[in-house]
Amino acid sequence: MEKTGILTTQLEKAIAWARKYSLFTYPFVTACCGMEFMSVSCAHYDTDRFGAALPRFSPRQSDLLLVVGTVNHKLAPVLLRIYEQMLEPKWVIAFGACASSGGFYDNYATVNGIDKIIPVDVYVPGCPPRPETYLDALIKLQNKIQNEKPAILPAHGGLQPKPRLEHLLGETKHQI
Ligand code: SF4
Repeated sequence: MEKTGILTTQLEKAIAWARKYSLFTYPFVTACCGMEFMSVSCAHYDTDRFGAALPRFSPRQSDLLLVVGTVNHKLAPVLLRIYEQMLEPKWVIAFGACASSGGFYDNYATVNGIDKIIPVDVYVPGCPPRPETYLDALIKLQNKIQNEKPAILPAHGGLQPKPRLEHLLGETKHQI
């Protein structure tokens, strides 16, 4: 094997290791799951062990979007805008049944899962999820990041795709 090949592999692992232990979260909290998220953010569960303790309330300083709670159609453009403003590479956790699938809301106003709007890396089940379930999701995300091929620039060259919400969510008209 060539020396350059060995060096590249080790560098990729080092970058992935640094990324997975320096997650800057953006909590997008909309509903009752937020109470559970507050408890998991407290010292008892110590998310600093995973390098994901400090939230950033600016998407431009965040690389992990936590969607915590119900997302309705009126809120969908806001969620999409925040996702687009986040740094690359970026990851998304759907926290709870509502964010993952719409939960028990089967109506015209609720988005039946945020993956209709943005890509999701890990789904956290539960209504609300237990804190340990969130910690498990963090570990799963870290394993995913460790095995990802780190791209310095995303495939689209740094430009964000501009999805149209009416195509993603159905016939309801949306304006961004
Ligand atoms: S999953 Fe349950 S606890 Fe979480 S936002 Fe939905 S209804 Fe509330």
